[in-house]
Amino acid sequence: MQYGAFSTDSLMSITNRPDLVFERGEGSWLYDHQGKAYLDFIQGWAVNTLGHCPPEIAAALAAQAGKLINPSPAFYNGPMIELASLLTANSVFDRVFFANTGAEANEGAIKLARKWGRLHKDGAYEIITFGHSFHGRTLATMSASGKAGWDTIYAPQVPGFPKAIYNDIATVNEKIGPKTVAVMLEPVQGEGGVIPADIEFLKALRELTTARGILLIVDEVQTGMGRTGKLFAYEHAGITPDIMTLAKGIGGGVPLAALLAREEICCFEPGDQGGTYNGNPLMTAVGAVVLKRLLSPGFLAGVEARGQYLSKRLLELSVKHGLQGERGSGLLRALVLADERGPDIVRRALEGGPTGLLLNSPRPNLLRFMPALNVSEAEIDQMIAMLDTLLQGAQLA
Ligand SMILES: *Cc1c(COP(=O)(O)O)cnc(C)c1O
Repeated sequence: MQYGAFSTDSLMSITNRPDLVFERGEGSWLYDHQGKAYLDFIQGWAVNTLGHCPPEIAAALAAQAGKLINPSPAFYNGPMIELASLLTANSVFDRVFFANTGAEANEGAIKLARKWGRLHKDGAYEIITFGHSFHGRTLATMSASGKAGWDTIYAPQVPGFPKAIYNDIATVNEKIGPKTVAVMLEPVQGEGGVIPADIEFLKALRELTTARGILLIVDEVQTGMGRTGKLFAYEHAGITPDIMTLAKGIGGGVPLAALLAREEICCFEPGDQGGTYNGNPLMTAVGAVVLKRLLSPGFLAGVEARGQYLSKRLLELSVKHGLQGERGSGLLRALVLADERGPDIVRRALEGGPTGLLLNSPRPNLLRFMPALNVSEAEIDQMIAMLDTLLQGAQLA
């Protein structure tokens, strides 16, 4: 499409984007180039923890930009130290490495596990992952992912990622061999269709990996930072993983990610791991603002409460329209349709009405909801009313 003097044809086509340009965001609302408003239940793909353009993030960026943007990762900076300290104080982990994207944090987790395997497990390097999992779009993280078709699209894959079946501990046990160094999973499979791991499965995984002397890696890129109502999703199972990765919500919308590990596992030596932008103060200053807000009194309880409210309202819609129920954890939820009209609903939600609605359909029979963690009940009600209209096959009013 044409946008003023410019054309979108200058961009590589990597996804089918609708013919609109978003120019402004505020809280749960986005505004396009024609001024149309959209109620946003995607929030930058579960990244805008505090909604669009929260004043505290804008202020932190402006203040930090006026002070120090990037001294290089070869030096300490204040926000990097503060955020790492806050993360270790509020998790079971002892040390943090900052990255820019979830895929990069997961690459770091894979490297850390492989190095640990070289030092302590006779060169073991295999990391057991799961069918339908999603760990990112670098070559190694695509190989780790269990997404259909990803084994051939950029073949050959990076070797060393045997796949087990999610929520099936016997299949994990079967895959463990002398070359196994770790098991890696998402506590809720987000891209795979909002499929939570059973608490019993997570506990059994921790027991099994401990008994076999291998590492447990949780990819909390989507579930971490309050999304499920706890600061980190592993807390629901009361387990202590060895390695965790974070991205998406930690930056509240800006590119920031983290790799965390327990002290015994931290075996990187100078030169093993790095990256030009990693730990830069501009992004870590934002991460500190986001985390402090999540830790403020009542915030996570509010996520939990509105997660339950969203769940209840989705269930009502499911009953009313004869759908197959809803599932998820906290404010990461999915409505299971009775047919494959997810993409059609997403399109009509976007295109209809004077006011649009942004939803995601990770599978054709599923709608996914990942609102800002400070979304209001009134906004949930408004979304439900719009979705009710769409499920009736009608246009948004
Ligand atoms: C989004 C996601 C990633 C990849 O993060 P990027 O920032 O897109 O690289 C990895 N793991 C999970 C579970 C995710 O949801």
